[in-house]
Amino acid sequence: MLKLYNSFSLSKEDFVPFEKDLVKMFICGPTVYDYTHLGHARIFLIYDLLSRCLNDQGFKTDVLVNMTDINQNVFDKAKENSTTYKDVAKFYASAFVVALQSLGIQSVNRLAYVSDYVPSIETQIKKLLQKKVAYMAHGNIYLDVSQVQHYGQISQQTREQLNLHRLDIGPGKKNPEDILLWNCTDDFDFSWDSEFGTGIPWWHMQDTAVAVENFGDNYDVHGGARELVYPHHEAHLAQYQLLSGSDKPIKSWVHVGLVLSDGEKMSKSLGNVVWVKDLIKKYDSDLIRLYVFSKHYRDDMDFSENDLMSKKPLLDLIRLTMDKASDTTHDTVSNLMRDFMKSLNDDLDSPTALAKLETICIEVKNGKGITLVDFNHMCNMLGLKHDTTN
Ligand SMILES: [Zn+2]
Repeated sequence: MLKLYNSFSLSKEDFVPFEKDLVKMFICGPTVYDYTHLGHARIFLIYDLLSRCLNDQGFKTDVLVNMTDINQNVFDKAKENSTTYKDVAKFYASAFVVALQSLGIQSVNRLAYVSDYVPSIETQIKKLLQKKVAYMAHGNIYLDVSQVQHYGQISQQTREQLNLHRLDIGPGKKNPEDILLWNCTDDFDFSWDSEFGTGIPWWHMQDTAVAVENFGDNYDVHGGARELVYPHHEAHLAQYQLLSGSDKPIKSWVHVGLVLSDGEKMSKSLGNVVWVKDLIKKYDSDLIRLYVFSKHYRDDMDFSENDLMSKKPLLDLIRLTMDKASDTTHDTVSNLMRDFMKSLNDDLDSPTALAKLETICIEVKNGKGITLVDFNHMCNMLGLKHDTTN
């Protein structure tokens, strides 16, 4: 059975989905105004690994990713290029799909542009107003977080700590940490008409409506970068709890560490962004996979080309082993294969799994047998493509 670390309970848990054979996953997707960098790609590689582990255990996976196109950065890009926000979104969403494909990520099966969900966002906000857990204040609508039980649990903050955040402050806001749902007071280049006035639905509510519309009252895994925990995921959970009437509408919160570049967060202004489209021109996608999986997903990783290249001997060894397949698998190798699977099932401990795979390859090189079926089984779990031409 797969064990996963849940940021909600702060512990490793046996993973049991709501439905018997199906795992529903929502991954916070990109704001579609630029290309995909390695930090984004790492997130999707990790959930691809998770999906492959779940598929291996007989679960089907349904993976939903939102494309954030209602956002000032998208609007700015549209203005810069004298086009619409929709054109900008489509262009970068296509580039995102190409980036995922170039890395062999096949698990994402639903992409949702949040701008397609504005009527649903409006409906969900109306429900929150009817339940009297949201309120209007000078044109804006806020969620009253004082009505949310255990608010602050994922980000591990007390009510006092939460009070120190002054989120989206506007006149008439009851508590500084209340969550903005619909913004009618700021000026945006694009806006939407609603019952509440003309404005834009706020970030957290966009994702909630996408998830509610696609998955209903509950789903199994919510994923994204660890930096999204507060306020984004805390707000999403509060909204989902109030809309679904359930304390635990999402089983597992799985967060991935950051990819740093020269010890700093990647940013265009620092000029340290590693774009997938550039990386893939230079390096084999299998090498990039081995590099990303060589670090535990919950840890931050500092990108270095030397570290990436240091996985090349392992990749060569893996390819050599593919050519050495035999009719039977030796007992020693079978035991190591079991350890490989066990590591992945222990909160996706891919660094240990890779170490086991390396030992297997060395054993095979030294004469112990492995069948192609057994070897491919492990390669498939890691999404390695068995192709030496690339
Ligand atoms: Zn999100």
